[in-house]
Amino acid sequence: MIPAAFEYYRPKDMDGVLSLLREHGDDARVMAGGHSLIPMMKLRMAEVPHLIDLQDVGGLSGIDIDGDSIRIGAMVTQADLIDHAALAKAAPILREAALQIADPQVRYMGTVGGNVANGDPGNDMPGLMQCLDASFTVVGPEGAREIAARDFYEAAYMTAREDDEVLTAVTIPLPSGGHAYEKQKRKIGDYATAAAAVQIVKDGDTCASAAIAMTNLSDTPVFSEAAGAALVGTGVDDAALKAAVAAMLGDIDPSEDNRGPVAFKKHVAGVILRRAIERAWSRA
Ligand code: FAD
Repeated sequence: MIPAAFEYYRPKDMDGVLSLLREHGDDARVMAGGHSLIPMMKLRMAEVPHLIDLQDVGGLSGIDIDGDSIRIGAMVTQADLIDHAALAKAAPILREAALQIADPQVRYMGTVGGNVANGDPGNDMPGLMQCLDASFTVVGPEGAREIAARDFYEAAYMTAREDDEVLTAVTIPLPSGGHAYEKQKRKIGDYATAAAAVQIVKDGDTCASAAIAMTNLSDTPVFSEAAGAALVGTGVDDAALKAAVAAMLGDIDPSEDNRGPVAFKKHVAGVILRRAIERAWSRA
């Protein structure tokens, strides 16, 4: 389908973006890679009379790794994440997850900022960022503020970002221990039926900490504190795995759609989480 008519803007700096957002209010939206927004416009599920392209805005690219944290500019693409050797070493779960998003054509255009700002429960990065305890920097008329990924998602396509704010960067504390991103999908290029992001720190033979987040199993990503807590202090044996899966199942709220009925989704979520924990534990 063809989208409704719209005005296209390509400002050179953030001041230009913010002033267009101020001028056009609800009628304006920023566009990053366009690989979620343009399909929505073509399907007429989103009408955007004023489209503000972020491609030429400076300061939104780059991956910076220091002793404590990783800063990823909002316009960094999923392909950039995959190709960045130092990032793959510092936070290998990012590469592992990015490789499971869509296909290479989408990953060349789709950005980290667009993926996390979109608010689609099917996007893979929101859950991943909750697992890693990331924070998002947004700038707006009042200046910049940080929002924790774990507090960002309110409902499907509803986030803590105000309409006149732009997400500029994602900051992640340097992860330690073992990781895994497991995703079940119907075919290559599909969104998840269920996905699990797991990061585990080991102390001797015991789990010292565990962070677990699930994707596409509620109208927001689900950071399951209870599932992580079920592993802490255990040797991640069968009983602990069962307890973690049970805790996660208590936190998700999937609905039936063309990826299957609720019971099937819960079953897949359990299998995926168990696999992800076992893999993260073996790498911890
Ligand atoms: P855009 O489409 O440009 O924007 C998406 C939304 O976020 C818009 O509302 C826009 O206004 C807003 N936005 C964008 N950037 C910012 C910003 N910096 N600040 C504030 N708001 C912003 N994604 C997955 O995670 N997993 C998949 O398996 C997957 N499969 C896909 C398969 C296909 C065939 C396609 C076309 C897409 C798929 N995607 C998938 C989505 C893809 O990863 C998108 O590119 C991504 O979700 C959005 O990134 P974008 O840069 O394209 O954002």
